Amino acid sequence: MTQSKSRLVTCPSCKKQSEYSADNPFRPFCCERCRLIDLGCWAAENYRVPIEQDPFDESAPPPLS
Ligand SMILES: [Zn+2]
Repeated sequence: MTQSKSRLVTCPSCKKQSEYSADNPFRPFCCERCRLIDLGCWAAENYRVPIEQDPFDESAPPPLS
């Protein structure tokens, strides 16, 4: 019988060796948790930018109408 050689990749989250195959739906991550951790990091980075440049600062005087 022929055994298909599966490629091993390093999980970007925990640096563990994981299988890069169709059996691993979370590739290149080793598991679902590592994949979510990586996505969470991305979300946190994205949220920081708009908060830093908040045009509605409380120190600014309110518009008079
Ligand atoms: Zn991992």
